[in-house]
Amino acid sequence: MVKKKAAVIGYPVKHSLSPLLHQYWLKVYGLEEQYEYGLLEITPESLETRLDVLADQGYVGINVTIPHKETVFAYIEKHGELDDVAKKIGAVNTVLIKSDGSLFGTNTDAYGFIHNLIHQQPQIKFKNKTILVLGAGGAARAVIYGLIEQQVKKIIVVNRTKEHALALQTFFSNLRSRIEVVDWEDRNTSHVLENVDIYVNSTSLGMQGKPALDVAINVLPKESFVTDIIYRPLQTELLQQAESLGLRTIDGMGMLIYQAVRGFELFFGKKPEVTPALRALMKKHIAG
Ligand code: NAP
Repeated sequence: MVKKKAAVIGYPVKHSLSPLLHQYWLKVYGLEEQYEYGLLEITPESLETRLDVLADQGYVGINVTIPHKETVFAYIEKHGELDDVAKKIGAVNTVLIKSDGSLFGTNTDAYGFIHNLIHQQPQIKFKNKTILVLGAGGAARAVIYGLIEQQVKKIIVVNRTKEHALALQTFFSNLRSRIEVVDWEDRNTSHVLENVDIYVNSTSLGMQGKPALDVAINVLPKESFVTDIIYRPLQTELLQQAESLGLRTIDGMGMLIYQAVRGFELFFGKKPEVTPALRALMKKHIAG
């Protein structure tokens, strides 16, 4: 029997943990005879040509990572179908390749972000809360969309390049939301931090190989939550700082896992479970 295929596409892509996750679930659910999941390194220049032939090559789905999420969005906008979430975020991270070869694009990053928070801190509440988001890149867009969907009261966006934060504010202006933009220089001040319920790092700072995230969060309210969407390392300096202040923390690994839950279900027809064994396996790989 010829196996159907799925893969994560990116450039570079070799560090992606998506194959580990999907291969684990394919094994757990006895689907390895029918499907395989791999890595496809695709340069930005060859992306369109490769997307054109995926169906003929036996693919049922792809996950999309840096730097292709916006380009795949634009491609499917022209050649396929996008769901409402992808349209509202303006990027695609999951593509179903239907049996007639047509492409259906969605975005599961917002789902992954929110479900990770709920899973790690079940008592967390969003409705009418104030959230501070550091960063205004692609990941911030999914994070902010997820928070808007949860009916938060206010989202304070703090980004090095203020124009990028203002662009996000405009991008989401037609959704029911209140986004306030604050200067990067003011990120540690008590008037910005004193009413924050959830503090989110969605910049790439603090990630292995990147500069440190230079923030001081000691004036955050004692009952606030702090989360970092970076998962390499799992225990970032931000989370260490928060723990030393007695704040509740949420690491970024679950965002990756939960965004994949949606993709697995779409590609292979089974909603996979997130078990302690899977988390332990992921942790081991992240620790290297
Ligand atoms: P991106 O689009 O490149 O955005 C990077 C963000 O970091 C921007 O806001 C940028 O600010 C800021 N930044 C970069 N260098 C900085 C510096 N030296 N000082 C201050 N700010 C700086 O990247 P992305 O796609 O949003 O991803 C961001 C991070 O999230 C990555 O580390 C990625 O691995 C992680 N991520 C995790 C998950 C998960 O599942 N856990 C999912 C998606 C992404 P400017 O606007 O000023 O450039």
